[in-house]
Amino acid sequence: MNKRWRNAGLYVLLVVVVIALATAFFEQPRIEIESWRYSRFINEVENGSIEKVVISADRSQARFSDPTGPDSAGKDRRIVVNLPSDPGLVDILTDNSVDIEVQRQAEENRLLQVLSTLLIPILLLVVLFFVLRRAQNGPGSQAMNFGKSKARVQMEPQTQVTFGDVAGIDQAKLELTEVVDFLKNADRFTAVGAKIPKGVLLVGPPGTGKTLLAKAVAGEAGVPFFSISGSEFVEMFVGVGASRVRDLFEQAKNNAPCIVFIDEIDAVGRQRGAGLGGGNDEREQTLNQLLTEMDGFEGNTGIIIIAATNRPDVLDAALLRPGRFDRQVVVDRPDYSGRLEILKVHSRGKTFSKDVDLEKIARRTPGFTGADLSNLLNEAAILAARRNLTEISMDEVNDAIDRVLAGPEKKDRVMSEKRKSLVAYHEAGHALVGALMPDYDPVQKISIIPRGQAGGLTWFTPSEERLESGLYSRSYLKNQMAVALGGRLAEEIVFGDEEVTTGASNDLQQVARVARQMVTRFGMSEKLGPVALGRQQGNPFLGRDIATERDFSEETAAVIDAEVRSLVDVAYSRAQQVLVDNRGVLDQLASMLVDKETVDSDELQRLLIENNVSMASIA
Ligand code: ADP
Ligand code: MG
Ligand code: ZN
Repeated sequence: MNKRWRNAGLYVLLVVVVIALATAFFEQPRIEIESWRYSRFINEVENGSIEKVVISADRSQARFSDPTGPDSAGKDRRIVVNLPSDPGLVDILTDNSVDIEVQRQAEENRLLQVLSTLLIPILLLVVLFFVLRRAQNGPGSQAMNFGKSKARVQMEPQTQVTFGDVAGIDQAKLELTEVVDFLKNADRFTAVGAKIPKGVLLVGPPGTGKTLLAKAVAGEAGVPFFSISGSEFVEMFVGVGASRVRDLFEQAKNNAPCIVFIDEIDAVGRQRGAGLGGGNDEREQTLNQLLTEMDGFEGNTGIIIIAATNRPDVLDAALLRPGRFDRQVVVDRPDYSGRLEILKVHSRGKTFSKDVDLEKIARRTPGFTGADLSNLLNEAAILAARRNLTEISMDEVNDAIDRVLAGPEKKDRVMSEKRKSLVAYHEAGHALVGALMPDYDPVQKISIIPRGQAGGLTWFTPSEERLESGLYSRSYLKNQMAVALGGRLAEEIVFGDEEVTTGASNDLQQVARVARQMVTRFGMSEKLGPVALGRQQGNPFLGRDIATERDFSEETAAVIDAEVRSLVDVAYSRAQQVLVDNRGVLDQLASMLVDKETVDSDELQRLLIENNVSMASIA
């Protein structure tokens, strides 16, 4: 569309809309209209308090003036009643000597008719107007006003969200209460010379409540909330993103103390200069600007930046350095009790029938995020309304679960009991072998909440010393292989060889990799001795694995294979011994997992102590 014409069109539209709205406003009846129920109407007729009614041409409505007289301001009040098709009505009216007037079709509700015929075109025009305006701000006209579109930064003076609205992610909430404290009492921290953190990175899958949490921080601290999405920084024209960043911080500084929320920060914050596709100048400039701004504001200006991502692994290391996003808060999918809390939050204001049991719903929905759960209850309420019910019953909830699960990716999140128990044994296997191996990292948390490809996950806390030195002992690596095999082994021991699943393929790859590295790179094989075999070339443009050059004979290759095999076999039998010897504990841990979905280090420790298991028993 030609631009001049589009502008002219816009003005015409605007004028039409204004005229239409003005007409509607001035012609609106100045009389108050109230509507009554039919039963009240009949009562009043029978009391003899109504003298005259006007009935619409189609016999669907009766109008009359309020029998209690005009209101306090002296204005006449009109009453409207919707009439059922009741053939006895005329008799009732004449029996009570009410004067009846039937309106002619033409004059009936003329005003309302005019308005309602106007309404749809007006709405269309308004929508069109906004669409065109947006189009005008789009890339086509961007060249004219580089980065000036402040509209992309959204500001909420008061978010009205509190921590009470966020449920089931208590750990994350706890870590953020500190931030609220910083914002509220900045002076106290400044007084003792403490530097307030600038950036907090919220890490977690979509729908787990990251945006909600950031809003709650702003709400609790009573400060404004600025938000922008990382993808909006990245525009066609070089320089726009960077100037948007400048813009954003300009506005934030004028409104400090405040929260700046950057959603999807990975869109701008990816590692610079990596990957095969060549760099993206625009993105790098934007990122550099962001880093500059974060370093720029000195001391405690009261601006705290909260960013969200579900890909912390791809972020540029510069973003995570001290003074930038140096705090990370994990916002994970809620476990059973978390889901129950979230369901409680979102069932506020909804009417449920007695058969609805939130605990049952929470049980049925492992892997659901907060957004899924809120969506689920809302769908159930909509279904109930459609079915003309006054309460939401379990039928609606069940149908809603099916709806929310419509996507194929989500379907397999609802685990059958069998699969749940299989995953629980698998993870319990990893955890138990890990916990009982001397010289291995302590278990931090075990979870059977599905995530991505993995059915569950067991986290170990690496010791500080190991993290710092990056050195691993031979016994540590041996244990690592046993731990990785523990998952598959537990499946075998409990369900039999035939029932093992493909769920362990990652584990097996890890075992193979560790064993091969021990033999060929770390010189930890007795037969081959301390030699490094195969030149390792770190060529970033080909995957590092592809670039290994072979510099040994066929015979050596055969010995390597045999050594790898024997390392794996030893690890296998060690893990097997641990699990068979402690079958009782394995069963208890698995059933804890089935029940609660997550088990933390304290709970595991307690279980081990109760069962008198200690590391010494298996050396
Ligand atoms: P994210 O930013 O992590 O993708 P959002 O914060 O946008 O997720 O969540 C979307 C909606 O889902 C929220 O507005 C809220 O209604 C609901 N929700 C998500 N997580 C929670 C939670 N932990 N507690 C209560 N409601 C939640
Ligand atoms: Mg979000
Ligand atoms: Zn595993």
